[in-house]
Amino acid sequence: RLHNLVQELKGNIRVFCRVRPLLAWEKERQKGLEHLHFPLQDNKSDPHVCLSPQSHVGRDRKGDVKYDFSFDRVFSPACSQEEVFEEIALLVQSALDGYHVCIFAYGQTGSGKTYTMEGPDDMSPETMGMIPRAVQQVFQGARELEPKGWQYCFTANFLEIYNESLRDLLVGRPERGAELEIKRVSQSSEELHVPNLRYVPVDSEDEVLKLLRTAKANRSVAKTALNDRSSRSHSLFQLRIEGWNRSRDLHSVCECAVLSLVDLAGSERLDKSFSKGERLRETQAINTSLSTLGLVIMALSNKEPHIPYRNSKLTYLLQNSLGGNSKMLMFVNISPLEENLSESLNSLRFASKVN
Ligand code: ADP
Ligand code: MG
Repeated sequence: RLHNLVQELKGNIRVFCRVRPLLAWEKERQKGLEHLHFPLQDNKSDPHVCLSPQSHVGRDRKGDVKYDFSFDRVFSPACSQEEVFEEIALLVQSALDGYHVCIFAYGQTGSGKTYTMEGPDDMSPETMGMIPRAVQQVFQGARELEPKGWQYCFTANFLEIYNESLRDLLVGRPERGAELEIKRVSQSSEELHVPNLRYVPVDSEDEVLKLLRTAKANRSVAKTALNDRSSRSHSLFQLRIEGWNRSRDLHSVCECAVLSLVDLAGSERLDKSFSKGERLRETQAINTSLSTLGLVIMALSNKEPHIPYRNSKLTYLLQNSLGGNSKMLMFVNISPLEENLSESLNSLRFASKVN
């Protein structure tokens, strides 16, 4: 209750910043990176992130803070997946109460989006990402609500949006056939679906975790075949939750919500002037869909009458889950490397705008 009250006061959009740690090989290569001053304040009452580039020795006085951003929460490189999840657990839980929940990871390629959402390739219970944790939380929450008369029904789907076309990540290559398109469920309904997409009924977290592995495998096939197309596509995992309470009366209460977790395409500036053909189309598609997402979120938070959902496949698909009775969270993922400073600043500025 308190959580929902706080949400109401704050609006339904929150932004969390996460800075990933240096990787082992980066530590080795970047001798002297210790000099990079990267002050991070982790306190919950005043979370902000300061970037103070010091590589231009002589120009910047030591300790001078050049850029300062504040967000709802800032996670330093030392923060574990568990600590990050703790901060979103209540949000995830609210999907069982009938709120649509959308969680995005935004940032340049290599900043830790996939790590945050899915976890690393060699995943362990400690390093598991937000998607598997959220799934566990939802099923566990559903079991806890059972004695109170609640019964739930779950459906999962997992797709990729590349160049504004959809691909089912739960279907391997040879099986794939029909074009995937976003359609209205019926003429009279505002509800959207993708007719040829696999919507898989699931009964337990283990079933969903299996699907996540399938999706990961299907995604990495394309990685080698198409020169890491995964960094240039959005991946969208959705869990549809339908709940009934049979203890009340015959007209039982019915809640329906969708939990969406999105690993966005890399946000790095893509140079249009050097792109040709396929590459140019790809560049335009990514730029359009990321900026459309930003515009949609801003329009929602400003309560504008027109929300440009239709301008990209991603926002169109999420139309029913964004705005209205929904809660949104964006992770802005940041690389700790100073060479990525300008991309980090771009990401932080984008995230500040939607916050
Ligand atoms: P992105 O999806 O944004 O391109 P990745 O999630 O693939 O980035 O992260 C890039 C690399 O950094 C990967 O090797 C990943 O395992 C590692 N990494 C990212 N975040 C963390 C973290 N919080 N702790 C440890 N390693 C991380
Ligand atoms: Mg990734």
